[in-house]
Amino acid sequence: MKEGVNPVLKRRILTDSGAGWHATAKFWGSQRLSSKELRDAGLKATLPRRKILEVLEQQESRHVSAEDVYRLLVETGEDVGLATVYRVLTQFESAGLISRHHFEGGHSVFELNLGQHHDHILCVKCGRVEEFVDELIEQRQRDIAEKAGFSMTDHCLYIYGICAECQKAKS
Ligand SMILES: [Zn+2]
Ligand SMILES: [Zn+2]
Repeated sequence: MKEGVNPVLKRRILTDSGAGWHATAKFWGSQRLSSKELRDAGLKATLPRRKILEVLEQQESRHVSAEDVYRLLVETGEDVGLATVYRVLTQFESAGLISRHHFEGGHSVFELNLGQHHDHILCVKCGRVEEFVDELIEQRQRDIAEKAGFSMTDHCLYIYGICAECQKAKS
């Protein structure tokens, strides 16, 4: 059931244009995870799983905690308990459908795993999360791993700070 690119998967990502960083909308793949993907991941497409997947797909911010997912389900009238949300998210993570981030000072945050590597910059005041990719940083990390005799399998980089809006609000 492919109807072109799903606008749901359009994400903002910071890219370096040479003249500075700009947020650009970027389509990250056309795969909307469906019941089929759930089955392919070895998970039966139960109602809670499908509902939780829907929430993860529709979230504007794309980085949500288990509590956020629970709250959003309750808001749309779904009868799903917090324990179920935790359990399903853990199953999704084990199946590689979602990634878990341990952002400092907060609880775990989840995002759909769309296969494209990116790093995160986040505001310690309001919790907003932006994504970025910097080829120079990527390359330097590969170099470091290589020098240390490692074959790099993964890395994560979180930049913590205070976003422009929160800086304005303070002054
Ligand atoms: Zn902020
Ligand atoms: Zn992300």
